[in-house]
Amino acid sequence: MATKTSNKINRIRTFALSLVFIGIFVMYIGIFFRSSPIIMTITMILGFLFVVSSSGVYFWIGMISTKAVRVECPTCGKITKILGRVDACMHCDEPLTLDPALEGKEFDTKYNRKSYQSQDEKPQNENQK
Ligand SMILES: [Zn+2]
Repeated sequence: MATKTSNKINRIRTFALSLVFIGIFVMYIGIFFRSSPIIMTITMILGFLFVVSSSGVYFWIGMISTKAVRVECPTCGKITKILGRVDACMHCDEPLTLDPALEGKEFDTKYNRKSYQSQDEKPQNENQK
C-alpha cells in the first residue's frame, strides 16, 4: 500500500497519526506495570512525549502546507499540494512535477535532494572541485 509515489503531506500526516497511536499504546503498556511506579512513570512520560511530538508534527504540517504549491491534478482534476520538485497527487498518487526539465521522466524522489539540485543547477561549480 505504501508506495514510493505517495504525497509527502499525506505521508507526514500518517506519521503523525501513528505517533498518537504509539503514545497511547506505550501508556497502555504502563497500566500493566502498576506494581512498579518507576516503570509506570517512565511509560507514561514516554507515551505523553509521543503524543506531544505528534501535535508538533501536525503543527509542522500546517507550516509546510502553506508553503506548498497548489495545483490541479491532470489525472483526477482535484486540487493537490506539491512539496519540492516532484511529488505525488494527494488523491490518486499520480506523479507530478513543477520542473519542466523533469517532465516525462520516471518519478524519483532523488530530484528533491539537495545534492541533485545543486549538481543540476550549478554544473560549473561541480566540475571545479
Ligand atoms: Zn490526482
